[in-house]
Amino acid sequence: MSLDNYLHDRNEAETALSGAEREKFEKWVSSILSDPKSIAATIEDALKSGMFSEWESESINHKFRLGSYYPSMVEKCLRAQAYSYLFPEPPTAEELAIFAEGKAIHELIALALRRSGLISVEGSEVSVDLEFSNEAKLHGRIDDLLLIRIDKAGEKFKLFVPLEIKSASTLPDEPRQSHYYQLSTYLLAQDYPLGVLLYWAKREGRVKAFTIVKDDVMRAVLRERVFELHEALKSGGLPQKEASVTRDYGQCERCSYLERCNPYLIDSIPANSKVSLFDLDSVVLDTSQKRRAIIQDLGLSPSSRPSDIHDDELKKKYWEMLDSPKYVEFDLPAPQAPDKVYEQLKLGRVPIGISSSRRDNLLEATRARLANLGIPIFQLILREHGNYDTDGKFKTRWASRLGINYDVVEIFDRDAVTSSLIMKSAQAKRTQTVEK
Ligand code: SF4
Repeated sequence: MSLDNYLHDRNEAETALSGAEREKFEKWVSSILSDPKSIAATIEDALKSGMFSEWESESINHKFRLGSYYPSMVEKCLRAQAYSYLFPEPPTAEELAIFAEGKAIHELIALALRRSGLISVEGSEVSVDLEFSNEAKLHGRIDDLLLIRIDKAGEKFKLFVPLEIKSASTLPDEPRQSHYYQLSTYLLAQDYPLGVLLYWAKREGRVKAFTIVKDDVMRAVLRERVFELHEALKSGGLPQKEASVTRDYGQCERCSYLERCNPYLIDSIPANSKVSLFDLDSVVLDTSQKRRAIIQDLGLSPSSRPSDIHDDELKKKYWEMLDSPKYVEFDLPAPQAPDKVYEQLKLGRVPIGISSSRRDNLLEATRARLANLGIPIFQLILREHGNYDTDGKFKTRWASRLGINYDVVEIFDRDAVTSSLIMKSAQAKRTQTVEK
């Protein structure tokens, strides 16, 4: 007689158990009841361990072999991909939950599609290889391979459609690029004319499907990425810090290898140097002439100010012109700007220019303009594409990033509050880094 039976059918147990056994069970139950929380904790632990072993068994199929790369990763920063193959890390609790949730949603969708009677699911986790040479390929698995029967103008067709399922917190307006790359790999590998990316919004309880048509141009794009990664790994090296080089710092912020990679170390400035931050548009450059030139080119009265533009089209045009490298040549030095920069250089500090209002497509033009004006600031931090931080947040975030490798000793900004926030942020990071 087990404890299960005893608790399940006490009447039967009454007769099956001796008095001593019953007493033993009762004692055992009361010892459990003296610490009831332990049962909840046991279930939590069991769930975590079960989820981890499910992830582990999947990972066994994902053991890295030089030359075989994952389509789900191929769009990511090349350096991050290399790290993930060379230094795989166990998943965080959040990643584990995402993995388990994704798996459950996948099973649910396959079941629902089968039940519909309209579509048949011909295979799940279908293995595919897209080979680029005899030593490099993308190897992945299609979530589901669907067979759709189409009845058109009296003719019946059957179409195989790979389906890739993604769970998301909200539905995207467009397919995510990494998912597009992944599905494109499957289409090219098996020569399917099209596939479907299906997003499942967990919180909203909605789904959205996108048809992706096979695009042969993608073969060259994928090949180039795979070869760059493969050649680096084959030679025992690492590919470029792609996200950092392309200033996709949002990717770095989310990267599990941020510390190992150190993407904020600037090649031209040795670690531990003393640096001074200059706000470009309030301290270093006078942009008034540039703004006047744009107003004039828009055909407005020279006395107009940007805030006087009420027409939406014209306003849009104004901002586009402000983002154009063509107008950077109208930037002039702000009063005493060169002196301030030279003074910092004399003190052995490296001047770094920062601007939250200048987009990074103006990087080269701004650098050239500063050189023409004789202002020796060669390292610039401008607002990268897709960054919508406020001015204060943009600068404090960058000060903190710089604090990882440098000693930020002085800030030149339009207002004292921002300067003090930036300084605090840089110093806090510096202290944290030095103490490590
Ligand atoms: S930190 Fe940035 S550059 Fe470095 S590996 Fe990660 S994403 Fe790539």
